[in-house]
Amino acid sequence: MSSFELTEPEGMPENWQKRGISGQSVMLFLYAAIVAFAFVLVINKNFESPEQILEDEQMAEVDKLANQAQVAANNNVLLPEVYEDENSELENSFDNPDVAWTVQGEENEPEVKDDVLIVEKGDNFIGILQKLGMEYAEASQAADSLKKAGFDVRSLRAGQKINITKTVDMPFGELLSVDKIVLEPNMGIKYIVTRNEDEKYVAEAEQLELTKENKVIEGKIYSSLSATMRNAGVPSNIINNFTNIFLYKVNFRSDIKAGDGFKVLYERKMAPDGRVVKNGDILYAELQLGKKKKIALYRYKDTGGNIDYYDEKGMVLKRTLDRKPMEFRSARVSSRFGWRRHPILKQRILHSGVDYAAPMGSRIYASGDGVVKRAQWAGGYGRYVVIRHNSEYSTGYAHMSGFARGIRPGVRVKQGQVIGYVGSTGRSTGPHLHFEVIKNGKKVDPLKIQAATGNNLTGKELQRFKAEMSRIVALADEQSKLAEAEKVEAVIAPAPAVVTE
Ligand SMILES: [Zn+2]
Repeated sequence: MSSFELTEPEGMPENWQKRGISGQSVMLFLYAAIVAFAFVLVINKNFESPEQILEDEQMAEVDKLANQAQVAANNNVLLPEVYEDENSELENSFDNPDVAWTVQGEENEPEVKDDVLIVEKGDNFIGILQKLGMEYAEASQAADSLKKAGFDVRSLRAGQKINITKTVDMPFGELLSVDKIVLEPNMGIKYIVTRNEDEKYVAEAEQLELTKENKVIEGKIYSSLSATMRNAGVPSNIINNFTNIFLYKVNFRSDIKAGDGFKVLYERKMAPDGRVVKNGDILYAELQLGKKKKIALYRYKDTGGNIDYYDEKGMVLKRTLDRKPMEFRSARVSSRFGWRRHPILKQRILHSGVDYAAPMGSRIYASGDGVVKRAQWAGGYGRYVVIRHNSEYSTGYAHMSGFARGIRPGVRVKQGQVIGYVGSTGRSTGPHLHFEVIKNGKKVDPLKIQAATGNNLTGKELQRFKAEMSRIVALADEQSKLAEAEKVEAVIAPAPAVVTE
């Protein structure tokens, strides 16, 4: 800068006039002006302000979007609308550290979405995820993670819900990733699959904290018992168990009249969100038949682990053995119990049971509550099961094609429980059930017995029962009062308007 004499520019015109125009000084001045102008240009170009750069980029952006719109219009593709942001000047400033400086428009923001899928018949877990757009390897890794957490995806049933959280690109909705899978295969347990930092799926089981609750429902019977109970809000499995309890005591068609009453107290389990997760045992079952006859029964598990329903005196509700313990109720008797002459062996042989001809594979039930004593191959009997019902009676089932799952010696079974399937194993000419009743170790005619299972309570057992009974009575009273209070509230609440169409 030392070569320029610009310290007194305001004095120059005066000098020009006073001294006349000297060629040297004019040249010097022009030179200085050109250099200064060039300098300003350089500064302007290289040190464009951030706002200007931004503006340039935005202009380029607008051009690009316009271009895209043009292309899209030509191809009939819809583009998302672009809105001018009111605060764009403020937000897009370099001074705002929150702005992520990415180029917009090339990629749209991915979106996180929640989906509820319902498993349909024939679906499998991996297939469902593949349908969403997941790779096979990824889907099967998610399935493996569930297996590690204790859930085998092969046990997925139709109707089961799967909650999925996924990331999709916009606007086309293509799957980018599945981020979370939640399954509740059995009520009360939840499996949650998420991704770890290595992008691998990991699953964990979450046991919901269930609370046990007792519920009383009572009412007057005005149509059939089960219809009345259903309308009163009794769950269907509780209705079934209730009618089973009275099955051998009450004839539902002829004994129950309009105006009779029922009452049931049962246990149920509630999830933290108030859902009923499971309906449990019936603790108390009551039928009021006419004005005088009331049957009230209490559930009791004796010291031997047998569960039965007893009246207030500890008398068991007698249940007789089922003489035709099978699904195929119309099965005909193909051979009766008794002595006969064997056509080949030419000697008298006892046919020790009754034969029911039935379709191969149809279900065979336990004739009464009891404990499985045998479940194995037994020579001419083929696959054979024996159930002991009490000190007096046992029943036998021969020629089965297979045993039901879990049927083995020592296992406790309930009347009507599936124990196996009709077959023709052993010495047999066609599919049938050979059914035996064994009384005090001797085979007797199943069609002639009036065998009852269950024992009345005496002594210590009776004392234990009485204690349990008072507990149940107290529970029922408490719940009845609560139900009463609910009813009163329901009456006070305004009735909803009736809409007629
Ligand atoms: Zn037979």
